[in-house]
Amino acid sequence: MALDHNAQPILELRGIQKSFDRGTGVPLRVLEDINLDIRPNEVICLIGPSGCGKSTIMRIFAGLIEPTQGQVRYRGQKQAGLNSNVAIVFQGFALYPWMTVEANVENVLVAKGLDPAEIRERTNRAIRMVGLEGFEEAYPRELSGGMKQRVGMARALSVNPEILFMDEPFSQVDALTAEGLRAEILDIWDDVERNPSSILMVSHDIKEVAYMADRIVVLSANPGRIRTIVENTLPRPRDTRSPDFTRLVD
Ligand code: ADP
Ligand code: MG
Repeated sequence: MALDHNAQPILELRGIQKSFDRGTGVPLRVLEDINLDIRPNEVICLIGPSGCGKSTIMRIFAGLIEPTQGQVRYRGQKQAGLNSNVAIVFQGFALYPWMTVEANVENVLVAKGLDPAEIRERTNRAIRMVGLEGFEEAYPRELSGGMKQRVGMARALSVNPEILFMDEPFSQVDALTAEGLRAEILDIWDDVERNPSSILMVSHDIKEVAYMADRIVVLSANPGRIRTIVENTLPRPRDTRSPDFTRLVD
């Protein structure tokens, strides 16, 4: 499906500024003048140096934290509080070690108040999507890094999010496994149902970003600002040996 640049954005950040009060009396200015939208049917990647505010932008989009200034809009309306139409795959795995694979996925659906039949169906579907059938009763400690991240993905996909956020999802997964997972995520996303509609991924790996993204948002630090937004027009599947992207790396 081709990108429609005139489509109304699903989520927008308008004039976002974020400071953290560190208890020193001098707030830390983390984000400045952030204007960014997530459009339907796109993979958008945030890349930039450590500490430039990538995770903070993602949290503001998801409504996990409030900006100091500026507005978050969901489908044109001001967003207040948590956005239940998005899901996050967190950096690290953030799994409950005492819960099985299945229970880790079911947990978020229970918290959403869904009925048991629906929970069962969605859990099974999500576990199937990420190829974890047969591991329902396993505990996180019995799984490899790549499989743990599959659980994180299943948990996020189980809520049928409109937008899937992934915060450096492969930072604790070996390179070869990460390569496979990236391709699988695009396969899932590219499914006819296009569900989730869009993906926002935070990364510090330029090759990963070149492979995944339709749009690449390059941030600079102290405070975090948008340096440039690049459209990635190479057709999928992308050959990340292309020298086109090296100019983005400092
Ligand atoms: P990135 O994900 O790009 O590495 P973050 O968004 O995690 O960066 O953090 C940006 C800056 O904000 C860092 O200096 C970090 O220490 C600071 N920061 C993030 N969250 C908080 C918080 N809850 N309280 C205080 N400072 C924070
Ligand atoms: Mg981060």
